[in-house]
Amino acid sequence: MGRKETYMSDEWKVLDPLNRACILPVSEGVKPGTTFSSRYRVGVERVLEELGLPYQPPYWATNGYSYTVAKDDKTLSDYVSRFLKRDLTAKQAHRANGVFYGIPECCIDYFAGGVLDDQEWLRKKNFSFEDSKTEYERLNGSYPEELDYGIPGVTPCKVDCGNALKAFGEYRDVLLEYDREAAEELKLFNQRGYRILSRGNI
Ligand SMILES: [Zn+2]
Repeated sequence: MGRKETYMSDEWKVLDPLNRACILPVSEGVKPGTTFSSRYRVGVERVLEELGLPYQPPYWATNGYSYTVAKDDKTLSDYVSRFLKRDLTAKQAHRANGVFYGIPECCIDYFAGGVLDDQEWLRKKNFSFEDSKTEYERLNGSYPEELDYGIPGVTPCKVDCGNALKAFGEYRDVLLEYDREAAEELKLFNQRGYRILSRGNI
C-alpha cells in the first residue's frame, strides 16, 4: 500500500486526528521527527510500518504509549544516541529535541537561553508567545494563518517568524492535501490556545 492509500485507509482514520497531524508531515518528508501519545499500539504500529517510518519501542506515559518516530533510520538513531550521552546539558537536550522536531534555529535559540527547569521554561514559552500573538492580532486584526497549523508543543520565537511560518505552511499544505480532518483538528487545537500543554504531541 502506498502512502496515499494508507492515508485513506480505515486503519489510518481510526487514529486520533492529532496523532495523524504529527505523523503525516514526517511521512511526507517536511518534518524530521515527531513524538505523540496513543492509547492504542497495534493500529499505530501497523500504520507506521506501512508508511516505512522507524520508531522507538513505546513506553507508557500518563495518557498513553509515547511514540518517537522519524523520517528515516539515521535521523532516529542520531537522535536516540544523542540522549545516551550522559553529559548532555539541558540546553544541549533542548537543541537536540529542536533539531529532531524540525524547529527553526532561531526558535530553538530563543528558548534555549531560558532553560532553567521544565516548569520555568514552560511558563516562559506559553506566556510570552500567547501574549505577543494576542497583541499582534489586536494591532493587525488577525495573526498569520500558518500559526493554526503549528505542531503542538512547538512555539515560534515570534508571531511573524518567517522560518516558523514557512515550516508550519508546509505542514498545512500536506495535511490539507491528504487529511483534512487532521488539519481541522490541529487548527482547532491551536485556536484553543498555546496555553494548553501539548498532550505529548510534538
Ligand atoms: Zn523563529
